[in-house]
Amino acid sequence: MLVVMKNDATEAQVQAVIREIESLGYRGIPMPGAQRTAVCIIGNQGPVDDSRLLLMEGVKETIRVTKPFKLVSRETHPEATTITIGDVKIGGGKPVIMAGPCAVESEEQALTIARLVKKYGAQVFRGGAFKPRTSPYSFQGLGEEGLKILDKVRQETGLLIVTEATDHINIEVVEQYTDIIQIGARNMQNYSLLRRAGHASKPVLLKRSFAATIEELLMSAEYISSEGNNQVILCERGIRTFSDNTRNTLDLSAIPSIKEVSHLPIIVDPSHAAGRRDYVIPLSKGAIAVGADGLLVEVHHDPPHALSDGMQSLYPEQFGELMEEIKSLIR
Ligand code: PEP
Ligand code: MN
Repeated sequence: MLVVMKNDATEAQVQAVIREIESLGYRGIPMPGAQRTAVCIIGNQGPVDDSRLLLMEGVKETIRVTKPFKLVSRETHPEATTITIGDVKIGGGKPVIMAGPCAVESEEQALTIARLVKKYGAQVFRGGAFKPRTSPYSFQGLGEEGLKILDKVRQETGLLIVTEATDHINIEVVEQYTDIIQIGARNMQNYSLLRRAGHASKPVLLKRSFAATIEELLMSAEYISSEGNNQVILCERGIRTFSDNTRNTLDLSAIPSIKEVSHLPIIVDPSHAAGRRDYVIPLSKGAIAVGADGLLVEVHHDPPHALSDGMQSLYPEQFGELMEEIKSLIR
């Protein structure tokens, strides 16, 4: 349930409503908005008795939230959320382009690619230091050494950094080095990791699992928000279907669907969806055309020798071409 406050409600009246909600055994989370402040009630299993709340000073009305996700729902927060990191704004404006290799392999590799993607207009550098690999025998990432390289990339290029935390232990060190904490598709329902990310001081990029419904993705985002971190960026990266010509099937309809029910920004990863570089540019154009708030694209200066996901990594010049091709689609 949402307790909507009057336009002129005071902070003291909002706090009194929160205390009343707590006395009923629930939690009250203030949701300041452009038009009005509301307090979202979370923790209730069934309907809430709103009779006392409706009599309180400053309260305009109560609204039942119909979705199982509350804090990330548009019902509780009608305006689109914008996440600001330095000069970069994610959501509700121009698409933000995040690009870089699947994994950080060496300082020279990361810096070479970072300089190139910056030249072509990327704002965020991606690269995994902790890699969730299907095979235990595949390259697992450089760990903290990789994070130190990413820190150098930020210092040298000014690009923001997004890199993955794969468990609730390495998120501690990832949080120190990165600007955005990535939670990968395989970990979308790793609840201890989600809860820990909810206490992080950095925004979280939450990728949709290849087997998750949109509601499941939003419930995972709710885990992060319910712990206090509202800075969540969603990412559609392809789901598993019976289509077998691509690594996954990019669910472009997820973009308008999510925008209808949630205020969170959503970006698209065409690389893991396609699994092959020749489809990355057309899928990126589709993603921007349907309203994605950004792209997460794998780029490598030497894809045949990449330690992971070389097949789907763009050559730097192709990334330049992608940036040119999406220009006309950006308003
Ligand atoms: C990645 O971004 O490198 C990655 C591992 O992606 P996903 O979690 O979507 O498979
Ligand atoms: Mn990858």
